[in-house]
Amino acid sequence: MLLRGAKEVAKFLFMAKFKKVSSLLEKKRIISKEIEDLQNECTHSGKSIKSIKEHEVSSTFIFRWICNNCEKMIGIPNEQEIKKYLNGS
Ligand SMILES: [Zn+2]
Repeated sequence: MLLRGAKEVAKFLFMAKFKKVSSLLEKKRIISKEIEDLQNECTHSGKSIKSIKEHEVSSTFIFRWICNNCEKMIGIPNEQEIKKYLNGS
Protein backbone atom coordinates (compact mmCIF):
# COMPACT_ATOMS: atom_id res chain seq x y z
CA MET A 1 0.00 0.00 0.00
CA LEU A 2 2.83 2.33 0.95
CA LEU A 3 4.67 1.42 -2.21
CA ARG A 4 1.62 2.15 -4.31
CA GLY A 5 1.29 5.52 -2.64
CA ALA A 6 4.88 6.39 -3.47
CA LYS A 7 4.29 5.34 -7.04
CA GLU A 8 1.25 7.59 -7.24
CA VAL A 9 3.24 10.52 -5.88
CA ALA A 10 6.00 9.87 -8.40
CA LYS A 11 3.45 9.78 -11.19
CA PHE A 12 1.89 12.99 -9.96
CA LEU A 13 5.26 14.76 -9.82
CA PHE A 14 6.08 13.46 -13.27
CA MET A 15 2.83 14.84 -14.70
CA ALA A 16 3.24 18.13 -12.83
CA LYS A 17 6.66 18.59 -14.41
CA PHE A 18 5.20 18.40 -17.89
CA LYS A 19 2.30 20.63 -16.98
CA LYS A 20 4.95 23.14 -15.99
CA VAL A 21 6.56 22.82 -19.42
CA SER A 22 3.34 23.70 -21.18
CA SER A 23 2.70 26.64 -18.87
CA LEU A 24 6.27 27.86 -19.43
CA LEU A 25 5.86 27.52 -23.20
CA GLU A 26 2.67 29.54 -22.98
CA LYS A 27 4.49 32.25 -21.02
CA LYS A 28 7.31 32.17 -23.56
CA ARG A 29 4.81 32.69 -26.35
CA ILE A 30 3.27 35.68 -24.56
CA ILE A 31 6.70 37.19 -23.84
CA SER A 32 7.83 36.69 -27.45
CA LYS A 33 4.70 38.46 -28.67
CA GLU A 34 5.30 41.34 -26.25
CA ILE A 35 8.91 41.70 -27.45
CA GLU A 36 7.75 41.58 -31.06
CA ASP A 37 5.18 44.33 -30.44
CA LEU A 38 7.81 46.55 -28.81
CA GLN A 39 10.28 45.90 -31.63
CA ASN A 40 7.64 46.85 -34.17
CA GLU A 41 7.25 50.22 -32.46
CA CYS A 42 11.02 50.87 -32.55
CA THR A 43 12.56 53.06 -35.24
CA HIS A 44 15.92 51.21 -34.96
CA SER A 45 17.85 54.48 -34.82
CA GLY A 46 21.15 52.87 -33.77
CA LYS A 47 22.69 49.52 -34.52
CA SER A 48 25.70 47.45 -33.50
CA ILE A 49 27.25 44.25 -34.77
CA LYS A 50 26.86 41.36 -32.36
CA SER A 51 27.73 37.70 -32.54
CA ILE A 52 24.64 35.68 -31.81
CA LYS A 53 23.71 32.01 -31.92
CA GLU A 54 22.50 30.88 -35.30
CA HIS A 55 19.42 29.46 -33.60
CA GLU A 56 18.38 28.52 -30.09
CA VAL A 57 19.99 25.07 -30.00
CA SER A 58 22.95 25.88 -32.22
CA SER A 59 26.55 26.23 -31.08
CA THR A 60 27.41 28.18 -34.23
CA PHE A 61 27.75 31.93 -33.83
CA ILE A 62 26.97 34.37 -36.62
CA PHE A 63 27.32 38.14 -36.97
CA ARG A 64 24.27 40.32 -37.23
CA TRP A 65 23.35 43.99 -37.00
CA ILE A 66 21.31 44.32 -33.81
CA CYS A 67 19.27 47.39 -32.90
CA ASN A 68 20.74 49.19 -29.87
CA ASN A 69 17.30 49.93 -28.47
CA CYS A 70 15.11 46.89 -29.04
CA GLU A 71 17.71 44.16 -29.74
CA LYS A 72 16.00 43.16 -32.95
CA MET A 73 18.13 41.62 -35.68
CA ILE A 74 17.93 44.19 -38.44
CA GLY A 75 20.57 43.17 -40.92
CA ILE A 76 23.54 41.10 -41.96
CA PRO A 77 26.92 42.84 -41.89
CA ASN A 78 29.14 42.44 -44.93
CA GLU A 79 32.66 41.02 -44.80
CA GLN A 80 34.26 44.44 -44.43
CA GLU A 81 31.96 45.42 -41.56
CA ILE A 82 32.72 42.14 -39.77
CA LYS A 83 36.48 42.68 -40.18
CA LYS A 84 36.12 46.16 -38.76
CA TYR A 85 34.12 44.80 -35.83
CA LEU A 86 36.69 42.07 -35.12
CA ASN A 87 39.50 44.62 -35.18
CA GLY A 88 37.62 46.54 -32.52
CA SER A 89 37.15 49.75 -34.43
ZN1 LIG B 1 14.90 48.75 -32.70
